[in-house]
Parts: sequence; structure tokens; C-alpha cells
Amino acid sequence: MGVALFTLGGTIAMAGPGQGGAGGLVVARLSGADLTAAVPALGELGVPLEVHDLDAVPSADLTFAQILALVDSASGAVEAGACGVVVTQGTDTLEETAFLVDLLWPRAEPFVLTGAMRNPTLAGPDGPANLLAAARTAASPAARGLGALVAFNDEIHAARWVRKTHSTSTAAFASPNTGPIGHVIEGRVRVLTAPARHRPLPLGPVAVDGVRVALHTVTLDDDADTLLPLAGTAQGLVVAGFGVGHVPSALAGPLGALAQRMPVVLTSRTGGGSVLRHTYGAIGSETDLQRRGLINGGLLDPYKARILLRLMLAGGADREAIAARFAEHG
Ligand code: ASP
Repeated sequence: MGVALFTLGGTIAMAGPGQGGAGGLVVARLSGADLTAAVPALGELGVPLEVHDLDAVPSADLTFAQILALVDSASGAVEAGACGVVVTQGTDTLEETAFLVDLLWPRAEPFVLTGAMRNPTLAGPDGPANLLAAARTAASPAARGLGALVAFNDEIHAARWVRKTHSTSTAAFASPNTGPIGHVIEGRVRVLTAPARHRPLPLGPVAVDGVRVALHTVTLDDDADTLLPLAGTAQGLVVAGFGVGHVPSALAGPLGALAQRMPVVLTSRTGGGSVLRHTYGAIGSETDLQRRGLINGGLLDPYKARILLRLMLAGGADREAIAARFAEHG
């Protein structure tokens, strides 16, 4: 029983053009063998690491289809005896891929994602420490049954809550609504609290490619001009509203019209907290938008709401089923 390591690229796997690459531009090109060779302490894990190099790309280039295939491969690895899974990838989209995995992962074995903020050519790269923390978490019985996790900076975050909150800091990953659910302390995985698990969505072939879900972030003095073309191009829309889920009154009508044609999910652009359900009454408030047919995204941030909505649309869910899922996850 080992840990299955899948590599997808990102800063953790980046190097310059020459030996060491210092001074040059870095691109993703290190393999899983390179990554594990930089972490001698992996030898003390007690279980072997089985490396699967899948891709070496900036995480901006990852796709839904790739992550669905990854979940499938990881599930196969567990079926073949792996006690846990580690995925290394770029940090830019990690909060989204982790949530996508979390929605689908049907197993008790830990599925742990990690990456790095400092590439291996810099002083004090964090990739080796993050990989070690992720492997320890994946191998730990304490992390079973928690769904997808993000191990970073010796913290363990639930995929459901984690956000990338800084562009360069090695402490970029945080869970603003909950804090980390655990820590790696002196090499020991300590899980302090368990996130509520939801029924996983069915893991089967879903055609995500033609399914477009737009994300509109509402801004000061916004008007409906950028929203109107969505009626012809998107199958779903996530609105990142002000504060507790508000938009300028000029947007309320157009959003209501869109909600008659496609699921439109209301979230908050603030980065923490929930949209409300029954407090404000103005045109463009949360109650007004719900009355016009928008689905309340609850505590789901806009990026995670978009993941859930696209996955459900790809699976053929109707508005009622989508609203029910958001009520559960939000
Ligand atoms: N731009 C990089 C990526 O997401 C950053 C990183 O790897 O952390 O692949």
C-alpha cells in the first residue's frame, strides 16, 4: 500500500533552461522523479510513492476534462491498493481543481493537492516541504474520509473552503470561513476538525467541453451591457455580487431575464462569508434577485459555484436539481 503521486506541472515543477536555471525564465518541466529526489525525507514515510507523470503545464492551462480523468486514474490507483493520493500542480487554479475533485471523490482514501509558491531556482523553495506534508497527509489514517484536501505551508485545508489569497506568499492558501482543518506538526498529521461531507456527484463520463458557464463580477456603476450577450453564448451564469449578494438596480431586470433562460447563481465577491436570503428588500438585493429566479450560492465563493454549476450542467441536471445541490453545498 503506497501513495500514488500524480504530477501536473506548476511552479513546484519549474526550472530554468540550464543547469539550475538561475537568472533564466522558468517553465514547468520537472518530473515526479525530480520532485521526489529533492525530498529525502519521503524515504521515512513508511510507504512507497508511486509516481505518475501526467502533464507539465502552468495550472492556467489545466482543463475540467483533465481533472475528471485524474479523478478516474486516482480512483484506479486506490482500487489497485494505494492508501492515498497526492497531486502536484500550479497554485493558480488549485482552489478550483481541489473543489472539483472534492465534488466527485467517492472514496475514504485521502486525496491531497499541493504545489509551490517559490520555484526550485529560488532561495527557500517551498515545494519540497509542501510535497512532504502532502505525502504525510495522504498516508495518514487521520485524513481518511475528509474528501479532497490541500496541504500547504504545513497546514491542511478542506478543498470545500480553501482559497488562494496571495499572489506570492508561501502562506497563500487560507480558508477564510473556517481556518485550516489540520496541521502537520513535527511530521505528524493532526486533524483538528472534520468538514461535513456531501454525497459525491456521480463519477462517469460527462461532456464538459460544450458547457459554458460565465462569471460576472459586479462593479460600481455596472450596467447590463456585458450581461446581455450571455443569453446567446452561455448555458449558466454565476454572479459575484456586492457584499451579501447585491447588484445595482439596473442589473436586476436583465439578471432576472437571464434566470428564465439558464441557471443563474448568486454569490458574493467579498472572499468570505455568505450571501444572505431574507434581509434586504431593495431592487437588486438578495430577496429581489431570488424572487426573479436567481439561485442562492450560500457560502460558495464565485469560483467554486462556477465549478459546481458547470459540472451539474454537463451531467444534464435541470434547474431544480441544481438549486437543490446549491442548497446542500452552499
Ligand atoms: N502560474 C503558476 C501555475 O499556476 C503558479 C504556480 O504554479 O504556483 O502553474
